[in-house]
Amino acid sequence: MQQTPDPAHPRAANPAAARHDVVIAGAGPTGLMLAGELALAGVDVAVVERRPRQDLVGTRAGGLHARSLEVLDQRGIAGRFVAQGRMVQAFQFAGVALDFGGLASRHAGVLALSQVHIERLLAEWIAELGVLVHCGDEVTAFAQDDDGVAVERAVGAPLRARYLVGCDGGRSRVRQLAGIAFPGCEASVSNLVAEVELAQEPPWGLRRDAAGLHSLARTEDGQRVRVLLTERQVGGAAEPTLGELAQALAAAYGSDFGVHAPAWISRFTDATRQAAAYRQGRVLVAGDAAHVHPPDGGQGVQTGLQDAVNLGWKLAQVIRGVSPDSLLDTYHAERHPVGERVLRNARAAIALRAGDPRTLALRELMTELLSMGEPRERTAAMMAGLDIRYDFGDGHPLLGRRMPDLDLRTAGGPSRVFDGLRDARPLLLNLGEPAGLDIAPWAGRVRRVDAAAVGTWTLPAIGPVTPPAAVLVRPDGHVAWVGEGGDAGLAPALTRWFGAPAAG
Ligand SMILES: Cc1cc2nc3c(=O)[nH]c(=O)nc-3n(C[C@H](O)[C@H](O)[C@H](O)COP(=O)(O)OP(=O)(O)OC[C@H]3O[C@@H](n4cnc5c(N)ncnc54)[C@H](O)[C@@H]3O)c2cc1C
Repeated sequence: MQQTPDPAHPRAANPAAARHDVVIAGAGPTGLMLAGELALAGVDVAVVERRPRQDLVGTRAGGLHARSLEVLDQRGIAGRFVAQGRMVQAFQFAGVALDFGGLASRHAGVLALSQVHIERLLAEWIAELGVLVHCGDEVTAFAQDDDGVAVERAVGAPLRARYLVGCDGGRSRVRQLAGIAFPGCEASVSNLVAEVELAQEPPWGLRRDAAGLHSLARTEDGQRVRVLLTERQVGGAAEPTLGELAQALAAAYGSDFGVHAPAWISRFTDATRQAAAYRQGRVLVAGDAAHVHPPDGGQGVQTGLQDAVNLGWKLAQVIRGVSPDSLLDTYHAERHPVGERVLRNARAAIALRAGDPRTLALRELMTELLSMGEPRERTAAMMAGLDIRYDFGDGHPLLGRRMPDLDLRTAGGPSRVFDGLRDARPLLLNLGEPAGLDIAPWAGRVRRVDAAAVGTWTLPAIGPVTPPAAVLVRPDGHVAWVGEGGDAGLAPALTRWFGAPAAG
C-alpha cells in the first residue's frame, strides 16, 4: 500500500491529516471487497472499522450465490471460499425450495459458508494486497469540498481522501451525514436469532404458527442451539436481552426450555429501505448502507459484493484521471435498479412467510410453479444474480450482461475468460481474425486477448446466444460491447467506459 503523500493530491484542509485516494467506512463484506478492488487497481485506500477485530459476533449470511462466486473467481480467489464451504443445489426462498442445478455457470448452486468465514477470507485477501484497516475506530463526521473529503474519526487522527465510501451497514452514519434519504417500508415483523444453551430437549426443526416461522437447530459443532423466533410484536431497536428471548420462546413453544448462556442474541426485521441516491458528491454508499431488507433469499452479502465490484474500477479510473467524474454516476444508474429488485423479492418473501391457510395455499402454488422448467430457471438465475443486465442500449443479448466464463484456446495455451480479469483491468476478447481489431490508443488500459472460445454460448435464463466475434468486458465482468464481424461501435464504447484515446 502506498504510504507516501501523493503530490497529485489536492492540499488537505488539515495539513496533519493522512491522505488517501479513498477512505472506506466499514470492513464488512462490502467494504472489504471494495478495498480489494481498489488495491488491485493501484489505488491508495484505507479502511476504518468500528469493530476492534474482524471477528464477527453471531451468525449472519450463510452462503454465497453463483454470481458472487463468479466475481471472486474473476479475481482468482473463489477457490479459497469453495475449499472452506459446501456446495448445495437447492435453497429455500421463503419456505419454497428452489433448485439451482443446471444454471449455466461454473458455480451453479449455493456455497454454504458462514459470513464469519466470508469476511475472514476477504480480510486475508486485502491484507495480501497491503490494505491498511484501522480497526476499533469509526468515522464520526466528514466535510466535502471541491477537492476531497476531510474525514473525522473517533480515535485516530483525521484523514483526507478524494472520495469517501460508506460501507458502514444499514444504520450508516455516512449515509445519514451525507443527507441521503432512505425511504422504504417500516418493520411489520421482527425476528430474534441467537446461539444459546437449553436445559431441556426442545422439538427440533421448523415450526409455523400465526406469528410466523420459528426454528431450533443444533450448531455445527453440536454444542449449542441456534434459535430463530418470530416475535408477537415488533421489537425495539435496542439490543435484545436473554429475558426477551425466553419470553419469545415461551410464546412460540409454550416453554423457554431453560434457555441460558447466550453466545449472542440479535434481532432483524422485515423493514426494506433503499438509499434514494448512491452518491452525493464525493461520498458514495454501498452494501447495506445503500439497501436493507430481511435475509430471506440470502441476498444481502451478494448485493454488497457486487455493488463493490461495480464501483471499484470506476473510482480507480476517475482517481487516475482516465475517466471523468461523471463515470461515478453510472454506479447509481446501474446498481440502484438491482437493489430495487432485491427489495421487491424480499417483500414477496415476507408475504410468503406467514402461517395462515391462505399463505400456505399460495406457498404450495409457488412450490408447484418453481418446480417447472422456465419459472424455476428464471427465478434461480435472478436469485443467483446471474441474470443482471445493465442498460447499455439495444443489441446482442450479451450486451450489459455478465460475461460467461468460457474455456479459451490461445497461442499461449488453454485459458479461461476469467483469467483475463484477474487484475481488474478491462478485457478485449478477440475471437475472430487475430489482430483484426485495433485498440492501440487504449492499449495501456485495456488488455487484448486473441483466442478461440470452446463450448456453447449459453446465458442463464436466456439459453444459447449467437457466438460473438469479439467482446469488450469491463473489469466487473459485464459486457460493454459486442463485435459481430467488424469494429462498428468499438471506439465509442472504449471511450465511454475507459476514457478518451491516448494521443499519438
Ligand atoms: C440474521 C441474518 C441473516 C442473514 N443472512 C444472510 C444470508 O443468508 N445471505 C446474505 O447474503 N445476507 C444475509 N444477511 C445480510 C448480511 O449479513 C448483510 O447484508 C451484510 O453483512 C452486509 O454487508 P455490509 O458490508 O454492507 O455491511 P455490514 O456487514 O453491516 O458491515 C458494516 C461494517 O461497518 C462497521 N461500521 C458501522 N458504522 C461505522 C462507522 N461509522 N465507521 C466505521 N465502521 C463502521 C460495522 O462495524 C460493520 O463491520 C443476513 C443478516 C442477518 C442479520
